[in-house]
Amino acid sequence: MSRSASQRPARNGASHGHTPSTGPSVEVAGHAIGHDAFVLIAGPCSVVATDVTVRVAQQVKAGGATMFRGGAFKPRSDPQSFQGLGERGLEMLEEAKAATGLPIVTELLDVRDLERVLAVADLMQVGARNMQNAGLLRELGRTDCPVLLKRGLAATIDETVKATEYIRREGNERVVLCERGIRTFETAYRFTLDLTAVPILQERSGLPVLVDPSHAPGRRDLVTRLSKAAAAVGADGLIVEVDEDPDSALSDGPQQLRSAEFRAYASAVCRVAEAEGRRVLRGGS
Ligand code: PEP
Ligand code: MN
Repeated sequence: MSRSASQRPARNGASHGHTPSTGPSVEVAGHAIGHDAFVLIAGPCSVVATDVTVRVAQQVKAGGATMFRGGAFKPRSDPQSFQGLGERGLEMLEEAKAATGLPIVTELLDVRDLERVLAVADLMQVGARNMQNAGLLRELGRTDCPVLLKRGLAATIDETVKATEYIRREGNERVVLCERGIRTFETAYRFTLDLTAVPILQERSGLPVLVDPSHAPGRRDLVTRLSKAAAAVGADGLIVEVDEDPDSALSDGPQQLRSAEFRAYASAVCRVAEAEGRRVLRGGS
């Protein structure tokens, strides 16, 4: 396990397939993301009630998730849409962590909320819309909190790697990247999941790269297939949206898996990860 990804060389482009045992790793709450491990992070797009949040955390843990995600501060395209519960949402995430022991992944939207979010987050998410927010990245670079940096909606691979450097040059080497879909000419689904970017980002950044299989299709019926494809292409893990009753969710309902179905999803995806030589991390372990 390594606290510093930068001490390891960037992966060279193996032409005959991925070699996870040579990849870098980033330590998050006692788990090593990357190297030969495969991490499964799951939870609702946004949290809205303590009891539901705790139940979903328990269900995803039982199904094999390693970490729990949930949004308290939500970056929405429309200012009239639900913006998240903010501080109350953070409290719900703390309850979920107390009940399950799962490390928490949540988004920091505004640098003015840094201290409050740092108190709860084990892995700090920077969303696609903030990937090039230099001030936010520099501030996170001065903390010792691991950062999950999501690729911007229209960011090239080069811009994405440069964004990681804003964090790393301030001293925080614990950065994990995430491919979540980019905007292309295609309009039949939300975003184009760029799976080719996964090995290229790994190679160029020397960092672990996760895939978010939820936001690109915008449809839950495609999430399992995209997740398996991500595991097959050599992603270091997945961050997937799961809620108890997605049809009543206040954000991203149509793409969220139902928590009752999470176990079956996780075992289907983990079979592929294991076939690719990955050791699947287990929640709470
Ligand atoms: C999210 O994870 O809920 C989210 C808003 O992601 P992105 O920044 O990739 O759109
Ligand atoms: Mn979402």
